[in-house]
Amino acid sequence: MTNNKNTLTGYYKESDEDLWLWDDIPELDMEVGYKVEALLHYERSPFQEISIVDTQGFGRMLVLDGTPQVTTKDGFIYNEMITHIAMTTHREPKRVGMIGGGDCGPSREALKYESVEQIDVVEIDQQVIEVCRRWMTKDSGDEREACIRMIYRDGYKWIQEQKNNLDVLLIDRSDPYGPATSLYKQQFYQYVYDSLTEDGIVVFQSGSPFYNTSILKNTVRSLSKLFPIVHPYVCSIPTFPGGIWSFVVASKKWDPLQADLTRLPCKDTKYIDPETFLASFVLPKYIKNILK
Ligand code: SAM
Repeated sequence: MTNNKNTLTGYYKESDEDLWLWDDIPELDMEVGYKVEALLHYERSPFQEISIVDTQGFGRMLVLDGTPQVTTKDGFIYNEMITHIAMTTHREPKRVGMIGGGDCGPSREALKYESVEQIDVVEIDQQVIEVCRRWMTKDSGDEREACIRMIYRDGYKWIQEQKNNLDVLLIDRSDPYGPATSLYKQQFYQYVYDSLTEDGIVVFQSGSPFYNTSILKNTVRSLSKLFPIVHPYVCSIPTFPGGIWSFVVASKKWDPLQADLTRLPCKDTKYIDPETFLASFVLPKYIKNILK
């Protein structure tokens, strides 16, 4: 363990000798508890508090400012669902950008497409990458990982320098506070549009459609002002509070609902296949009502 438990902030609490991580959901006035088997790493970077824990049930977990981000048990669901909808829909993605690095899972998913020449992963906090490399992921040994370029910068600044040069962009942003606040600004959506090629596609992580409805609503509304094709979609992620999670894909030309699903690298996925790809766009009525 890097730091003593005494330095931990409020979301780690001891109860009967056990350590628990409590994720605060202010929108529902509730907390979700994860039993911690081992606290492996804890530090404060200049941007946020980073910890790595072994949990009971979900395997190893990256936690930022008390919020679970990804686990070794179900991280494949998030990583596949943020990546493959856009990568499959675009006919030949060569240049890919990602804002928000974390354990870099989406960049490994994107490498499954032969056409990819370069992936820029833009992460504001280099420590998150270092910590994930040490505790969460092993080098896969895939020599195509040389296509991945790490850029340690604020994605809000980086995106302004990209003009008409990204085929696919994935916005793996954290919740709208701290360093990610700017990634929710109205102007950010325009910069994103300008960064994409004329048949470019972007996907945004857009929060819980159950208790974070304003994030989903605002993302759909902002993207619909710019892009001709905008679709929200959902999947179930057991670790995340409420289980159901949302994303929004926006495209200048190709419609995901008409994608050539033979392009999906199904041999190398654990969640997505042609059926789950299409089913993710089928929204329960309560979500359709939010978006009316
Ligand atoms: N899904 C990821 C994973 O698999 O680990 C979790 C990524 S987490 C949702 C979001 C990441 O975005 C964090 O690593 C955070 O440091 C980074 N981030 C937040 N604000 C950013 C910004 N303005 N520019 C670039 N990266 C940012």
